[in-house]
Amino acid sequence: MNLRFPAPKAGALATRQRSESIGVYALELESVKGYYETMIKLKQKAETVYSILDELLPPDIQFLEQRDPFRFMISVILSAQTTDRIVNIVTEPLFERFPTVEALASAPLEEVEEIIFPTGFYRMKAKNITSCAQALVGKEIPSTMEELIKLPGVGRKTANCVIGDIYGKPAIIVDTHFGRVVRRLGLVDTKDPEKIEKQISRLLDKEKHYRFSMTVNMFGRTVCHAKKPGCEECPLRSICPSSDAFLKASSKG
Ligand code: SF4
Repeated sequence: MNLRFPAPKAGALATRQRSESIGVYALELESVKGYYETMIKLKQKAETVYSILDELLPPDIQFLEQRDPFRFMISVILSAQTTDRIVNIVTEPLFERFPTVEALASAPLEEVEEIIFPTGFYRMKAKNITSCAQALVGKEIPSTMEELIKLPGVGRKTANCVIGDIYGKPAIIVDTHFGRVVRRLGLVDTKDPEKIEKQISRLLDKEKHYRFSMTVNMFGRTVCHAKKPGCEECPLRSICPSSDAFLKASSKG
C-alpha cells in the first residue's frame, strides 16, 4: 500500500508557505504590540510612583553622613551587607585617624580592620578601602561607570552612588530596599541588580533617575519594609499588585 501523500503542486506549496509566514508575521506583530503596550503601562506606573514619592519625601535625601567625595565613596564601600547607621558610626573614628586619601592609602591594615570591624567582612573591606585609596592618590575620583568599577571594592551600586551623589549625573542605585520596592510594585521582574538597573532606567527620563533611586530607597526603609510592609496606609497601594496578598496575610495575624 502506498502511504505517501502526493507532493503538493508548486503553486499550492507557495500559497501555503506564504500564508504560514503571514501567520508568523501576525503573531510577531501581536507580541511586539503587547511589548509596547506593557512598556507604556510600566512607564506610566513609574511616572506615578515618581510623582507621589517626590512630593511626599524630603527634597534632599542622604543616608551617609560623610559628604566629602572621597570619604563618601569609602562609606559606600563599607555599607555593603550592613546598615548605614553602623557605617556612620565607624567612619567617624576611621577618618579621624586617617583623614586623607594619602593617610588611608598607607594605613596599617590591622588598624583599619579594628576600626571597621562592626561593618562585617572587615578584612576584605579594609583591603578594599586601602587599595582604593592607593589607586586614588594624586587623582580625582572618576566620574564614569567604566572607570569607577575598576577601583578595588567598587561595584555598580557604589559607582552609581558616586555618579549620582557626587557628580549629579543620572544614576539608578539598586540596593536591597530599592530592589524590593520596585519588584513589589511590579516595575521589574527580576532580582538581579544589574537587570533591575537596566529595566528601571528604560522607564523614566534620565534626569529623574537619581531622585527616583533616593525616594524609592527611603520609602523602602520607612514604609515598604522587608517583613511587614505598611500597605494599609501606603500611598502607592492603588497601583501596587502586591498589596492584597500582604493585607490578607496581615489580617490572618
Ligand atoms: S502597597 Fe504594600 S507592598 Fe505595595 S508598595 Fe505599598 S507598602 Fe509596599
